[in-house]
Amino acid sequence: MKIIDGKLLAEELNKDLARKNLLFKQKFHKKPYLAVVLVGDNAASSIYVKNKEKQANIVGIESEVINLNKNVSEKELLDVIESLNKNNKVDGILVQLPLPNHIDSKNVIDNINPDKDVDGFNARNVGLLAMGIPKVIPCTPLGCYKMLENITNLEGKKIAVLGRSNIVGKPLAYLLTNKNATVTLIHSKSKGIKEICMNSDIIVAAIGKPKFVKHTWVHKKSIVIDVGINVISERGRRKIVGDVDFEKTFSKVRAISPVPGGVGPMTIHCLLLNTYNLAYLKVNL
Ligand code: NAP
Repeated sequence: MKIIDGKLLAEELNKDLARKNLLFKQKFHKKPYLAVVLVGDNAASSIYVKNKEKQANIVGIESEVINLNKNVSEKELLDVIESLNKNNKVDGILVQLPLPNHIDSKNVIDNINPDKDVDGFNARNVGLLAMGIPKVIPCTPLGCYKMLENITNLEGKKIAVLGRSNIVGKPLAYLLTNKNATVTLIHSKSKGIKEICMNSDIIVAAIGKPKFVKHTWVHKKSIVIDVGINVISERGRRKIVGDVDFEKTFSKVRAISPVPGGVGPMTIHCLLLNTYNLAYLKVNL
C-alpha cells in the first residue's frame, strides 16, 4: 500500500459503525445522540459541522446543531452546555472550535460533562489518556492511530510527531506512547527536525505549514501521515495542501496519506465512533 486512503478506510469503518448503531437502536429504542454547538458564522466551521451532521445521519446517529450568535456571552454558552449536560437524551457534546476571542475555550470545554465529552479535550479525559487509561480519545489522533495500525505494528517504532497542540500533537504522542512506540514530539523551538524525521520509522505532521516536510527528510521505509490542512494559491487557483510536500515525497516513501482524503474523513469517523461508545457506556452504567 502506497497511498494511505483515509476516505476508503473511513467508509469501511463507517459501515461497521452503522451496523452497531442499528443494533443499539433495536436494543435501546433510541439512536446515539450528538449535540454540536456552533458559535458564530465562521465559514470553515459551518462546513465542518454540516459534514459531521451528514455523516452522523448516514451511520445512524441522531444529531442536533445549536447555532449561537457570535456575540453570545461565555455565561450564556455555559448555560447551553449545562442544559446539554443534564439532558438525558444527549450522549455526546461537541463545541466547534475556534470560539470567538471573548470566550475562554478551555473553560467551556472543561464544563462539558467528561462522560459526554465526545472530542476528549476536557482536562479529565486528557489526564486519563496521559495516564494510559483513556475513556475518550480525541478524534484526529485516534484517526491517525487507526490509519497507522492498519498498515504496521507500532511497538518499538520510532515516531516523529510534528506539532504539540492540545487537539492533535500532544494527545497523539500520549496515544502512540501507550501503544509502545517511541515518540519524539516536535515543536517550533525544536532543533534538528530534519535529522529526527530521517531517523524515524513514522512521521506525523500536524503543524499547519504548507509543504513543510520535505522529500529529503524521509527514507524508503518511512510511513508519513499528513494531518495539515492549508489553503494555498497555486497558479492563481485555491488549493488545499497538507504539511508535507506530497508530490516530491510520494515516490520516496513506503506509504503516505494524501490531503484531502487522508486524516480528515478518519477524524469524522472517530467522532461518530466516540459518540457511539459514550452512548453505549451510558446505557450500560
Ligand atoms: P496549532 O494549534 O496551530 O499547533 C501547531 C503546532 O505546530 C504547534 O505545536 C507549533 O509549535 C508547531 N509548529 C509551528 N511551526 C513549526 C515549525 N516551524 N517547526 C516545528 N513545529 C512548528 O495546530 P493544530 O490545531 O494542531 O493543527 C495543525 C494542522 O492540522 C493544521 O493545518 C490544521 O488545520 C490541521 N488539522 C487537521 C485536522 C483533520 O481532521 N485533518 C484536525 C485538526 C487539525 P509551538 O507549540 O512551539 O508553537
